[in-house]
Amino acid sequence: MTLECADSICSICGHPIVIFATHIDACKNQYFVYYCASCGLGKTEPCPDEATLHELHSTQYYRNGEGVRFATPFEWLVEGMRRWRIYRLSHVVRKGRALDIGCGSGRFLRALRQSGWEVAGLELNDDTATAARNVHGLMVETALEAYADKSFDLITITHVLEHIRNPHRMLADCVRLLKPGGVIAVAVPNIASWQARFTRGGWFHLDLPRHLWHFSETSLSTELIGLDFELIKVRRLDIAHNIFGWLQSLLNSAGLRHNRLYSFLSSDDLETDNLTHYFSLIVSIALLPLLVPVSIILTVLEAVSHAGGTVEIVARLTAVENISEGSSG
Ligand SMILES: [Zn+2]
Repeated sequence: MTLECADSICSICGHPIVIFATHIDACKNQYFVYYCASCGLGKTEPCPDEATLHELHSTQYYRNGEGVRFATPFEWLVEGMRRWRIYRLSHVVRKGRALDIGCGSGRFLRALRQSGWEVAGLELNDDTATAARNVHGLMVETALEAYADKSFDLITITHVLEHIRNPHRMLADCVRLLKPGGVIAVAVPNIASWQARFTRGGWFHLDLPRHLWHFSETSLSTELIGLDFELIKVRRLDIAHNIFGWLQSLLNSAGLRHNRLYSFLSSDDLETDNLTHYFSLIVSIALLPLLVPVSIILTVLEAVSHAGGTVEIVARLTAVENISEGSSG
């Protein structure tokens, strides 16, 4: 995973690299997403420094200390989706020991534990990890080195890989941590989706500059196969992520305040005192009766066309001896 953006040719495959989208943040910093359509891989440039990334993932900006991001009815929906995901995973891997990478405050791990799994987490943000330990009584480490080789039956990485500086190294670490025949489930936004290609800089799941990398089904599956995983399932229909992805992306593309509806629904709604932001919110809500049905239809169409707004790949580590020296990227 070495996509270099200094010149206009992909360093992996030689295909021309294009500027997929640009974004100017609240501090007037401009970010570019460079993309190779052949590899299906995108990269954010410039990469924010460590202090900025830490701030962007702090509990204040990302979720509150108990892990709550949304108003109660939406939290119920998210909890239902967690349970549904665990049910689906139970068809491909027997209950055992599970690791959730980027576990946040541990709500998915809590649901897994209630389903009979022995659970552990990785959370790079110290404050969030502490909250997960204190609130839910979970084992959460801040570095993968804390866990022993071949100690997990299942590793989940849900909308986290795109936030990591070196996703190749993280996946190679998963190879080390999984038992032979263990299962990994990786979910990412899909930069090759219809919603991404149609709305570009307005795409909700672009999330600049938090997302340092931008995957497609092609780039993620190539990466996993290169690490000796065998693909079991590819899921392209994530109801909540993909419908809301369309909805907010269409509102963004219409010129309204970027992600205004999302900030209203999530716990970071600090903008109601600004008249422009208030106007964007009113218009967003007024457009819902039109845009919700449109977003549902587009979500189904893009999923059946293998271009869903997000993609989850479930893969099994081939049962041969694990390769632990795969981290060259
Ligand atoms: Zn390429």
